[in-house]
Amino acid sequence: MDLRSRLSALDARVVDAARSAGRDPSELTRIVVTKFHPPELITRLCEYGVHDVGESRQQELTAKRGELAALDGVRWHFIGQVQTKKARAIRAASDCVHSVDRDRLADALHAADPDGARLDVFLQVNLTDDPSRGGAAPGDVAGLAEHVAASCPSLRVRGVMAVAPLGSEPAEAFGRLAGAGALVRRIVPDATWMSAGMSGDFAEAIAAGATHLRIGTAITGPRPARD
Ligand SMILES: *Cc1c(COP(=O)(O)O)cnc(C)c1O
Repeated sequence: MDLRSRLSALDARVVDAARSAGRDPSELTRIVVTKFHPPELITRLCEYGVHDVGESRQQELTAKRGELAALDGVRWHFIGQVQTKKARAIRAASDCVHSVDRDRLADALHAADPDGARLDVFLQVNLTDDPSRGGAAPGDVAGLAEHVAASCPSLRVRGVMAVAPLGSEPAEAFGRLAGAGALVRRIVPDATWMSAGMSGDFAEAIAAGATHLRIGTAITGPRPARD
């Protein structure tokens, strides 16, 4: 199958998964994760009507956004782990950041453009037992939401994000993410978004309430090796 066929096949599966879960497919934003692929892939995706793309490394995001500056109507989502010192570059190149997982990163994203247009952010939740993985511990997410709401007025908390842990049941993991989202809404009532679901588990994510799907290989095919 070519790119266009994989995209339409994936979208059909998303519609099916939404209907099976009793949800309206139009509530879902499908982000195509283009990491490690050349910028031309994004140009082609745009020709096929894609509006949302996801990147997981700052340098790659900055380079592609620069190269594709003439491309209209693309929203750039940053979905990777990021060092605080890269926050300025991330803010400059992103329309939405999915991986805010600590106060210092939120502070640095805010300080990068305190009076600029508000940046949509997700608070990333670590659903594994491994504290070195990205994401705030589920018990710390409400505190992070309080911090961003009180101290980072140029950031807008939209919801929560997670990657399902390998080797565990995605439905259970996404249920825990939905629980973290409910806690965040006690602090930011309109933080109704949930970024969850990848090529292998988007149906479970949709059933658990995901609003933003991050789909890579099912659309792009295998990723080229890094660097
Ligand atoms: C790479 C990546 C994805 C996409 O994964 P696929 O399995 O290729 O769909 C989604 N989310 C994050 C955070 C990623 O790094």
